[in-house]
Amino acid sequence: MSMLPEGNAVVYYPIRLWTVSVFLFGALPLLRKREISHLVIGDEYDASVRTSSKGITHYDGLYDQSRYFDNSLSRYYLRKGWSINQFSILRQLSEMLIEKTLVERYPDLQTLQMSCHAAHKEGEKVLPCGKCEKCRHSSFRI
Ligand SMILES: [Zn+2]
Repeated sequence: MSMLPEGNAVVYYPIRLWTVSVFLFGALPLLRKREISHLVIGDEYDASVRTSSKGITHYDGLYDQSRYFDNSLSRYYLRKGWSINQFSILRQLSEMLIEKTLVERYPDLQTLQMSCHAAHKEGEKVLPCGKCEKCRHSSFRI
């Protein structure tokens, strides 16, 4: 039973907002022990969306993949006295340009590329879930 008046669209927002941070914080002990100062991730330009809905600022379910998150965590590391800078070498490229480059230059690698946070294996193939924030974001753009 819906609690919304008829005619109102239901907009689902992804619950899993902090997938990337799990990996980043998991790498911190190694970075600190080996004094590694660059934490390089692979997020593209399109992942930095900041918008507002009914007065609430949000990041389209991709905050942990945005440059805002990179900047915030880099400031956090600095406040802790750690010399770690977090950034993406793909940040200047769109998701579509990355796919195009892979298709044209590295077709063998493109068949292995996937943007999904909950991929699963079926037989010998790894498939996207189709439900996570990254899949939802990718399918929206296509
Ligand atoms: Zn997915």
